[in-house]
Amino acid sequence: MVYDVVIIGAGPAGLSAGLYAARARLKTLIVEKEAAGGQIATTDEVANYPGSIEHATGPSLVARMVQQAEEFGAEKVSDTVVSVDLEGDIKTVKCEKNEYKTKTIIIATGAVPKHIGCPGEKELTGRGISYCATCDGAFFEDLEVFVVGGGDSAVEEAMYLTKFARKVTIVHRRDALRAAKSIQEKAFKNEKIAFMWDSVITEVKGDGILQSMVVKNVKTGEETEYFADEDDGTFGIFVFVGYDPATKLFEGMVDMENGYIKTDDNMKTNIPGVFAAGDNRVKPLRQVVTATADGAIAATQAEKYIEEHF
Ligand code: NAP
Repeated sequence: MVYDVVIIGAGPAGLSAGLYAARARLKTLIVEKEAAGGQIATTDEVANYPGSIEHATGPSLVARMVQQAEEFGAEKVSDTVVSVDLEGDIKTVKCEKNEYKTKTIIIATGAVPKHIGCPGEKELTGRGISYCATCDGAFFEDLEVFVVGGGDSAVEEAMYLTKFARKVTIVHRRDALRAAKSIQEKAFKNEKIAFMWDSVITEVKGDGILQSMVVKNVKTGEETEYFADEDDGTFGIFVFVGYDPATKLFEGMVDMENGYIKTDDNMKTNIPGVFAAGDNRVKPLRQVVTATADGAIAATQAEKYIEEHF
C-alpha cells in the first residue's frame, strides 16, 4: 500500500498537516515516536495561540488537534523512524516496527532542548536537573530552583516555577535578558524571582540527587560552589538555553542551514515531494501559530504535487 503523504512528527506542524491532508482526502499517516504534541505537550499555558484563551494548556490543545486530524481520517502510529529513502516517485519511511511507502513526505520533527553541556548534567538529569517545568515543577515544592537561560522560555518558565519553588534564580550568561520586554517586565515584578547575571554553570554535583553546582562569573572568571540548603538536601536546575532541530536523519539528503531544513515559502525542500514544516526549518519565528501554518501549507502543496505528478 502506498500512502499519499507520510508526516513525520505529531507536534502542531505535523498535526495541522495531518488535518489538512486528510481533509483533502489524501491517504495520510502521521508517525510519532513519543506522545503527540512535541514541545507544547510540556507547556503549561499556551497564551498566544489565537483563540487559545481561558488558560488553555499545551496538552489540552494537542488533544484537540489529534482528535480533529483523526476525525478527518488521518491515521496515527507510534513508531520511530530509523531511515528514509527520499529519491524517486515512491519514497520509503523505514521505522522500527514497520516500513511505509508514500508519494510525499512532510518532515515535522521539531526541535529538542539543548543541554548546558557541563560535567554531571547527564547523570543528574531527572535527579534535580530538568528541561520541562510543566513536567517536573511540582517536585520542587518549597525548594530553591535555578533557571538557566535568558530567552522567552527561561523567563516564562521561571515565572511558572514560582508557583512551586520558594525562590527562583535566573542564571544568565549576560547582563541583559533576550526575552520579550513584556515577559521581562512581569519577571522583574515577581518577588520570588532573583537574577544571577554574567554567570554560567560549569559543573553540577550530587550523590544520586543534585546537591551542589559550580557557577562561574564570566566577567571576573571567579567560580563559586552553591550547596543545597541543609534542610532541603537538594534543589532544582531547569535548563532553557534554546533548541536543536531534530533533523539528523535527513542530513546529506535535504539542504540545511545550521541543522535547520531549508524550504521555500511553500515548505518545499530541495527534493521533489519532500516538504518540511515547523520548528525544524529555517524561519524567523518558531511558535505554535507558525508551526500550524507551515503544516497547512505543506499539506496543500503535497496535494498539488500529487495532482501534478501522479
Ligand atoms: P532562545 O531565544 O534561543 O534563548 C536561549 C537563551 O539561552 C538565551 O538567553 C541564550 O543566551 C541562552 N543560552 C544559549 N546557549 C547557552 C549556553 N550554552 N549556556 C548558557 N546560556 C545559553 O531560546 P528560547 O527561549 O527557548 O526560545 C526559542 C524560541 O521560541 C524563540 O524564538 C522564542 O521567542 C520562542 N518562544 C516564545 C514564547 C512566547 O512568545 N511566549 C515562549 C517561549 C519561546 P544569550 O541571550 O546570551 O544568547
